[in-house]
Amino acid sequence: GGSRRLDKYDIPVEVSGEAAPAPAVGFEEAGLAEPVLRNVARCGYESPTPVQRYSMPIVLAGRDLMACAQTGSGKTAAFCLPVVSGLVVASDAASGARGGGAGRGDREAYGYGRAATPRALVLAPTRELAAQIYEEAKKFSHLTGLRVKVAYGGTPMYQQLRDLEKGVDVLVATPGRLVDMVERAKVSLEAIKYLVMDEADRMLDMGFEPQIRKIVDGMGMPRKSVRQTMLFSATFPPQIQRLASDFLSKYIFITVGRVGS
Ligand code: ADP
Ligand code: MG
Repeated sequence: GGSRRLDKYDIPVEVSGEAAPAPAVGFEEAGLAEPVLRNVARCGYESPTPVQRYSMPIVLAGRDLMACAQTGSGKTAAFCLPVVSGLVVASDAASGARGGGAGRGDREAYGYGRAATPRALVLAPTRELAAQIYEEAKKFSHLTGLRVKVAYGGTPMYQQLRDLEKGVDVLVATPGRLVDMVERAKVSLEAIKYLVMDEADRMLDMGFEPQIRKIVDGMGMPRKSVRQTMLFSATFPPQIQRLASDFLSKYIFITVGRVGS
């Protein structure tokens, strides 16, 4: 059951869902991988914001998440940090099993004509937002070996495709451009382990629901019991509630701060 209460920092918080992990006091306690912690320090972040304190342990525990928090609350790092950390840990495990390398043994799989196969996908409503998330994800991935790429419309696809062909782990994309790339077999969604939808309410307001449903359900993405899905939104209207029940699996719902509707 859910409860709406003030946490120890007097932030109004509601958490519901089965066996929700406790919030983390600091970035170290959250359990982020070592290189990611170094990047957090490099960014000058001293302590996590409320939505980050609650989100990081949930995502690191492998749980699906529906998070509502207002603009400026630090949602980008709330999903980027645990996703990048999870990819780093998976890459280390894979390269250990292969007996070396920096988790990039799949490089040969890319090349002319092959679809890029990101392991994490972040959907965002606008070019500006995608570019912002891309910049932040790159900072958090510094010296991890992870390749972060971006794809948005309003600009020729050619350069973005050339960049994607060199390999991608984290792809930040707007829905329209991504559908186009997948339809041209330039991007494959079959290796997606993490799916994030940022500003989900804005994406719906902008009319992206058909593209989003196609990306999540009709383009080869692993089903919800296999991938891990996170939905971020400033508001939680019925349309978003439907997306959450369609796309998320045994998810934890958090509302941090006062949320408008
Ligand atoms: P939202 O997506 O919720 O609107 P952002 O992720 O864009 O918020 O973050 C808002 C601003 O706060 C950004 O400039 C970001 O770099 C900064 N920020 C985020 N988390 C922290 C933190 N833990 N410490 C200091 N600054 C932070
Ligand atoms: Mg944001």
